[in-house]
Amino acid sequence: MRIYNTLSRKKEKFIPLEPGKVKIYVCGPTVYNYFHIGNARTFIFFDVVRSYFTYRNYEVTYVQNLTDIDDHLIEQAIKEKTSVPEIAEKYIAAFFADISQLGVKKADHYPKATEYIGEMLDMIEKLAEKGLAYEVNGDVYFSVDSLTSYGRLSGKKLEELRVGARVEENLQKRNPADFTLWKKAKEGEPRWPSPWGEGRPGWHTECVVMSRKLLGETIDIHGGAVDLIFPHHENELAQAEGISAKPFVRYWMHGGFLNIGGEKMSKSLDNFFLARDVVKKFDSEVLRIFFLSKHYRSQIDYNLDLIGESEQALHSLYMLLKDLDYLRIMDKRINYTEEVLESKNEFLAAMDDDFNTARSIAVLFDITRKARQYYNQQNPVYEEYLHMLVELGQVLGLFQNLAIKLKTDWDSYSNDLIALLVKYRDKFKEEKNWEMADQIRNDLRSIGIELQDTKEGTIWKSLK
Ligand SMILES: [Zn+2]
Repeated sequence: MRIYNTLSRKKEKFIPLEPGKVKIYVCGPTVYNYFHIGNARTFIFFDVVRSYFTYRNYEVTYVQNLTDIDDHLIEQAIKEKTSVPEIAEKYIAAFFADISQLGVKKADHYPKATEYIGEMLDMIEKLAEKGLAYEVNGDVYFSVDSLTSYGRLSGKKLEELRVGARVEENLQKRNPADFTLWKKAKEGEPRWPSPWGEGRPGWHTECVVMSRKLLGETIDIHGGAVDLIFPHHENELAQAEGISAKPFVRYWMHGGFLNIGGEKMSKSLDNFFLARDVVKKFDSEVLRIFFLSKHYRSQIDYNLDLIGESEQALHSLYMLLKDLDYLRIMDKRINYTEEVLESKNEFLAAMDDDFNTARSIAVLFDITRKARQYYNQQNPVYEEYLHMLVELGQVLGLFQNLAIKLKTDWDSYSNDLIALLVKYRDKFKEEKNWEMADQIRNDLRSIGIELQDTKEGTIWKSLK
């Protein structure tokens, strides 16, 4: 198995620290509002990484943190006229509700930053003792000049960082690129006592401390989206290397952005769709196919045509299982023949090659074709293919609650027929025949189909 390691900038053979075990830490949400569909891409991808390791018989420990103290939470508490802990509680609950809607399995641990303040203080003190951190007026900074390896994850040179950081120059810092480990509390802000006065930890300290605490000094995989490489992961690495001679992370994995109109979807650019809104429009498995159809390191454009294609693709998988009556053979014991195992090997080869999900999904469709072909020839090997399709699809998080889904009646023509009605309705709207347009909408609603008009066109979902 090979994984692209951001640190070495190449694919490396995956060798876990301990044979048969994988320790994964993925940076989780800062819980001050709902996460967007770009964040969902990261969560879904690492859900698949974890699922694949489990499928390959690794014992996986998966940690995702919850950042529950931060400038954003403080601002949001003021905005919502409430306290920081209440903001955290509200958006943590929303986070769990949303990942469940997305079909993302829960991590093994969800450490909250505020539960590890003591450990964070210990780390900052150790860094200060080693001469890697210094205090000025109650703020503590990491001195990037004292660590020769600083910048090696992102490939940034100290000199360019010094110039870049000047824009927001803080005259207290020895080097403008120094980053905050401990932040002095301002009036009315949440605070914890420390040797440098009351304050709170910096974000980069939170993750490195929780990772070491829950998973040990060295972990196998540390993941997140590509924008976390710098400064967040660079600064986590700096602290870990400052404190221990042992490597912090064996494989750094970073996923590409979800773009919208060619720009990165982000809260700061205000061009995002919330995951909770998107899953109301599209089945979570449609989104999975949409995301996984591209390599995780590439950028994806949030494009309704492509999501529509993913919808058709998912539909065709379910239709196959339905047409060929998978439910009837679901509990049948299957011994796979060589030919079917061949398909499985192709799937594994794709996943082993730096999680090439685009290729592994192509294998699923190849299996679909073969199953139908054998079925038409009345050759029972089709049953093996159906079983293999489900087994491998589930590794990618597809076919959740399969038995229930297969029992609902949703025939293969439904999508096409609805598309047709939407087309006629559009025509009526063009002609300003609102009566007919509304009639179509209401009639569809009465049979359990809800139409929604969006900027990109009309979409529909089943209310059943
Ligand atoms: Zn983090």
